[in-house]
Amino acid sequence: MISVQEALRLVLEDLPGTGMEQRPVPSAGGRVLTAPIRSTRTVPPFRNTAMDGYAVRAADCESATADRPVRLRVLEVVGAGAVPQATVTAGTTTQVMTGTPLPEGADSVVRVEDVTAAPSGEVLIAQPVRSGANVRHPGEDVRAGDVVLTAGQTLRPADIGLLASLGVAVVPVAKRPEVAILATGSELVELGQPLGPGQIANSNAYTLAAAVAEAGGTPRILGIVADTPEATREAFADALASDVVLSTGGVSVGAFDFVRAALTDLGVAERFWKVAQRPGKPLSFGRRGRTPVFGLPGNPASSLVCFYLYVRPALRVMLGDRTPHLPAVQAVLDTAVESAAGLTEFLSCTLSSEPDGPHVRPAGSRSSGVLRSMSIGDALLVAAPTVTRLAAGAAVRVIRLSAETATTPPF
Ligand code: AMP
Ligand code: MG
Repeated sequence: MISVQEALRLVLEDLPGTGMEQRPVPSAGGRVLTAPIRSTRTVPPFRNTAMDGYAVRAADCESATADRPVRLRVLEVVGAGAVPQATVTAGTTTQVMTGTPLPEGADSVVRVEDVTAAPSGEVLIAQPVRSGANVRHPGEDVRAGDVVLTAGQTLRPADIGLLASLGVAVVPVAKRPEVAILATGSELVELGQPLGPGQIANSNAYTLAAAVAEAGGTPRILGIVADTPEATREAFADALASDVVLSTGGVSVGAFDFVRAALTDLGVAERFWKVAQRPGKPLSFGRRGRTPVFGLPGNPASSLVCFYLYVRPALRVMLGDRTPHLPAVQAVLDTAVESAAGLTEFLSCTLSSEPDGPHVRPAGSRSSGVLRSMSIGDALLVAAPTVTRLAAGAAVRVIRLSAETATTPPF
């Protein structure tokens, strides 16, 4: 039996990339960039005003006081999107709006709130203005030639907007890996069908399809596979056309567990079987060529834990994600937890933000058959093989499975 660290190392070793596709920027959110993006534009492209106000020469306003305001003649009123025509000379000003190009001759902008309109097209300025005040300079945001996004970044909303501001309409992103999903088990019944005696609903296929989609892959559900050597081999032969293969069940030591033998028949080289962990011990992993094949355990909680521990990082590495791993945080354990010696245990937990930092408590039952605990929990507590008991109040390591959200507003 190998350690979780060794299993992850073997899974991530020499994974194939998924290749690149060009994607329109408006629908590229969440995708992984495959090449750096260099700006061909300067943003802002011209000197402009950061405020609604009056473009002036600071020197004109040096002597301004409330008692002896400076009087300036308004040359024109120019909105954003229009170009000033007149040059601001001594004793004159141009009224400008946020984003208006700064008129020739002006070096500063006095906010409209600090100006009093006088009759006959003049304004009064009651205090000096710093030269350069409220002026935005070309390239303050981005200069032409700057690398603004790098390969391996997952595009977030601000990145999409940044690309749009630079006039980039199409970006190279990693293709989504197609992930075949097989559910083995003669006891399984498809979604929407009634349960006969001894039968259970196929939940794993749908759990995994949702997890694959969330991880950036395209799930290809291949349905239920009866527990016979022939059906198992035939199903995997079809599945191996995909970029990644996931199956559930049939990897344990039962009399009807045919997955490993079928994979060997099909030329899948097994890299490991059984990992010193709970849940998920019977996990098998192999490759045909460079195609990764995961034989996940049948127990619903086990297969999902194995997905998060091994499959998700593999998919993110294949996508070229620079940060392929789920984040781990340190938290205070609220109730004592026992853990088996010799195994790394992963315990479904709920994580909460308390005034003294993150706290964690076990969620629901610990049986590997119980998916409900994974539904309640949003994190996995990690107990190392050397740990047999974690006391209440202990500092523990927790893998976050989803971004934490709150019932109360943050401000
Ligand atoms: P196995 O690893 O095939 O022995 O399966 C272990 C347990 O997981 C059994 O109780 C199965 O009924 C259950 N199981 C296997 N596959 C699925 C599935 N696709 N959906 C829900 N439960 C499953
Ligand atoms: Mg089975």
